[in-house]
Order: sequence, then C-alpha cells, then structure tokens
Amino acid sequence: MSAMIEVRDVSKSFGGVIANDKVSLDVPEGRVTGLIGPNGSGKTTLFNSIVGYHPIDEGSIKFEGTEISDMLVPQIARLGLLRTFQQTRIYSKMDCVKNMLISIPHRHETFKTMFQEYPPEATDEAERLLEFVGLYSKRKLISGDLSFGQQKLLEFAMALMNKPRLLLLDEPTAGINPTLINGLIDRLRMAATEMGVTLFVIEHNMPVIMNLADNVYCLANGKLLAHGTPDEIQNDERVINAYLGGHLEMEDA
Ligand code: ADP
Ligand code: MG
Repeated sequence: MSAMIEVRDVSKSFGGVIANDKVSLDVPEGRVTGLIGPNGSGKTTLFNSIVGYHPIDEGSIKFEGTEISDMLVPQIARLGLLRTFQQTRIYSKMDCVKNMLISIPHRHETFKTMFQEYPPEATDEAERLLEFVGLYSKRKLISGDLSFGQQKLLEFAMALMNKPRLLLLDEPTAGINPTLINGLIDRLRMAATEMGVTLFVIEHNMPVIMNLADNVYCLANGKLLAHGTPDEIQNDERVINAYLGGHLEMEDA
C-alpha cells in the first residue's frame, strides 16, 4: 500500500541556509507519524513545504498519488491536508464557538462569512468538537481567557472543524501544563482511531512521541537521519548523539 503522503528528495533553502536537504519520507494513512530533531533541523520547514506555504527548490510531494508541491495552501487544504502552528493562532477576543465557526475558511462557499449567519448545524458541530477536546463548559468564554494548554486544545478542535484527512501538528504539547498533556495525547489518538484523521506530529517531548507515534523520523541539519519504530529510534546511536543526548541534558538543566 502506498503512503498517504510521499515526500521524495525535497530540498529547501533560505538564502544560504539549507533547511531541508533531499528529504524523503512516507506518512502512512490512519497512523500517527512522528518527526523529531534538534532545533533548526528543518522540521517546521518540511511541514510548510507539505501544506504549500512556500515552494520547494527540488523534489516531489505527493498526497494520495497527486503531486501537490506546486499547489497553494487553499488548494491543498481543500484536499483535506491541514496544519496547526507552533504558536497558537486563535482569535483571542472571540468566544470558543465563534473561533470554531470562523476557522472553516475553505468551507465558506456554503456558509455566509458573517458568523451569526452560520447554519445551526455548524454551531452544533462546533459544540460537539469542543466537547470532544474537553472544552464544552468553556464554549462561551473569550478564548483569550483560556489557559495556554486550553488554547492549544481549542486550536486542535478548530483544525478538526475542517474535517481534515491529514493533520500536521507542530509541537502540540509545547508550553502545555503536564496535567493537560495526557488529555491531549488521548484526544489526538482518538482523532486518529475514531475520526480517521491521519496525524503527522513534530514533538520535542520524547515520552509523548513514544506514546503516540507508530513510526518516527528524525531530522538533523536538514537531512533525514533515521526512521523506525519509537523503540528503534530511542535506541538509535545516531539519534542519541545528534538529538536525544543533548536534549536530555537540556531537560536536566
Ligand atoms: P525546526 O522546526 O526543526 O526547528 P526550521 O524548519 O524552523 O527548524 O528551520 C530550519 C532552518 O531554516 C533554520 O536554520 C532556520 O533559521 C531556517 N529558516 C526557517 N524558515 C526560514 C525563513 N522563513 N527564512 C530564513 N530562514 C529560515
Ligand atoms: Mg519548528
């Protein structure tokens, strides 16, 4: 079976900086694929390339067999391929339900853009997804008043509002209170198993990746360093030297 996303020999430079250097990887459907690597190793750049945020210099990116590397963000989003950001992007002065309603730009053809004119089904769906991420009781609160972790849950729910087939999550647990992390992991896993959303996740928190991902890629200096099961990656000498060793020291500091 071919992968949902096939990245082949993708390179991307910014001026003299080679952010991705002939990266090839597969994201299989219905699974959770992890992406790790030191800061600056090119993880976010690869996500940006996949969702059409910027053109690649060379290589090929296929989504279900279709070349998407020459498509723009809205076109790719319409195929069901979405991302969330390292920093949350919510509308902090609006309540959670309104955030959910305005987060569906590529479905605006069917809805009026003014949120008060959204059909009741959209509000129902928004409330159902807020319940799914554990924010139902906060649905009428101004989203800027939520904790950072709750804002991340809201952002995740906003992405689900678009009915993605594949969701790219850039450090979903960064800055989240440890007590909320387990809840978020459960929700991510349920999105994969119950809603059929394939996940591709950049994550610095190694226990989270080990818990969540079926297979893991490691980047270093823009190049693919290793690929394997979480267990294989955790015990891979190259990964330990390039990333885990330094990363563990950092956490101890
Ligand atoms: P990671 O997400 O793994 O921390 P990034 O993909 O953000 O790494 O960055 C990879 C490299 O590309 C870094 O050296 C970074 O400074 C550089 N880079 C990323 N985006 C840009 C940009 N828009 N302009 C210039 N340099 C960039
Ligand atoms: Mg990054």
